[in-house]
Amino acid sequence: PQRSDCPVDKDELGRNTWSFLHTMAATYPEKPSVEQQSDMRSFVHLFSKFYPCVHCAKDLQEELKTNVPDTSSQSSFAQWMCRMHNTVNKKLGKPLFDCRKVDERWKTGWKDGSCDV
Ligand code: FAD
Repeated sequence: PQRSDCPVDKDELGRNTWSFLHTMAATYPEKPSVEQQSDMRSFVHLFSKFYPCVHCAKDLQEELKTNVPDTSSQSSFAQWMCRMHNTVNKKLGKPLFDCRKVDERWKTGWKDGSCDV
């Protein structure tokens, strides 16, 4: 079998999960209903209980105690997710991402057209 058919390690799991989370934030409703807002808060909360990297999940749960997901609109949620990812970047000593560019990275593609087919 190819290496890509093997169980994922912490970093591959992280990259794949960030792709999912930022793409979900990019497609979250512009004007979410009260129910959608509370469902997404619940989703993030439940996600943090089952994220399959035990020490990552522990830190995430701790963070969520004081940093409640802002699910009031698509842009607010995308910005919240970007800040969340930056909290992890900071912890790991990685460069911080400029959250003004989150739509270009995860929603529209870069202004230079490099994501266009
Ligand atoms: P990643 O951090 O995976 O980022 C992928 C891509 O996202 C980047 O190439 C960049 O284009 C984009 N990006 C980067 N920052 C942002 C941002 N702020 N907003 C939007 N887009 C951005 N690993 C640990 O070792 N310890 C942990 O405690 C830990 N906790 C984690 C918690 C969660 C919820 C998740 C999803 C992952 C966690 N990880 C943790 C994994 C870690 O965050 C990285 O995914 C992993 O180290 C691989 O890093 P990477 O450099 O490939 O890029």
